Amino acid sequence: MMLALFACDPAHSRGRRYRQEPAPTRTEYQRDRDRIVHCTAFRRLVYKTQVFLNHEGDLFRTRLTHSLEVAQLGRSIARSLALNEDLVEAIALAHDLGHTPFGHAGQDTLNECMAEFGGFEHNLQSLRVVDKLEGRYPQFDGLNLTFETREGILKHCSRSNAEQLECNEPGGVGRRFLDKTQPSLEAQLCNLADEIAYNAHDIDDGVRSGLITLEQLQEVALFDDFRRETLAQYPNLQDKTQGRRLLYEAIRRMLSAQVYDVIAATSAALKTAAPPNVDVVRQLPPLLQFGPDMRAKSRALKHFLFHQLYRHPQVLAMTGQAQQVVRDLFAAYLADPQAMREGFAVRAEAARRAPQAPSAVARVVSDYIAGMTDRFAVREHERLTGMKWLS
Ligand code: MG
Repeated sequence: MMLALFACDPAHSRGRRYRQEPAPTRTEYQRDRDRIVHCTAFRRLVYKTQVFLNHEGDLFRTRLTHSLEVAQLGRSIARSLALNEDLVEAIALAHDLGHTPFGHAGQDTLNECMAEFGGFEHNLQSLRVVDKLEGRYPQFDGLNLTFETREGILKHCSRSNAEQLECNEPGGVGRRFLDKTQPSLEAQLCNLADEIAYNAHDIDDGVRSGLITLEQLQEVALFDDFRRETLAQYPNLQDKTQGRRLLYEAIRRMLSAQVYDVIAATSAALKTAAPPNVDVVRQLPPLLQFGPDMRAKSRALKHFLFHQLYRHPQVLAMTGQAQQVVRDLFAAYLADPQAMREGFAVRAEAARRAPQAPSAVARVVSDYIAGMTDRFAVREHERLTGMKWLS
């Protein structure tokens, strides 16, 4: 497969933080992908919530299946645009490694708990996982991934965190948030593939859970156009017993339409901008994009899901409990760091003697909680407080 001039080429990677000999048969980005698949945080994704709690049903998306869907969509678009598929896959599989238990509820609550200690951002946490928290190599902390994979993992970053990163790694992955430049096209692609994936699978999970209905979805053009198109072609799907097939076919068409739209709009943008290499890509405005019509439709769908699904009373009931679990765990471990698993207790003990002791200890607690799966957090909460999760 020939790569485009503007794609990331592993032969011209900006490299790893710790020098390692090249692998005999794999490119640097394949190697990154492999390291991610074998890491502990990746296996935990299977027990972490996307929207629905992991134990609410066996068929709902988890962070793991979500990440696989992002990788599938990303690779598919990358191949059409002659971008680097291996890099896209590595970024996609790693993009949610820093997610807390209980989805956005967990993340927002942990951010509140960490307010006076530097806050919590899940993108930065994903980078912390691959840079520091995975302990699998004798020579270094983390997975020692290439710059390009790390650049893609750090999707957003606040200015203050970017300044901190820049201090530790001058000209590194924090830099672009200070310069306001873009990442590689492969990284831009993963952001969009993430959005395409969750918009589609949240419709699927939302309808399957009964929290949203096909009738409600009639106000969402991006979905309903394809539902009507499908029904026109297969009138027998009107039958109530065929509802699933109608749902799947409409989602399938919706996914394809978005993929083709991104490919067309991005190809046109690339043709006009004609970046001769990825360094020029980084200086240009974002090139990986929907066309204007699809952008508007995707926004409308997002808006619908936000109000009808993420704010559904049943989802909010879970949110309330999740907030309490995270808050209580944070308070309990901060008061008694020795209640954490041994490795973290040892780190907290060392952090207590560090120059910025309170923040350093709180960061260890935050790392511990962020790494938890939904069910482990619930069990720990019960162990420490005696309170049971109400389902
Ligand atoms: Mg995601």
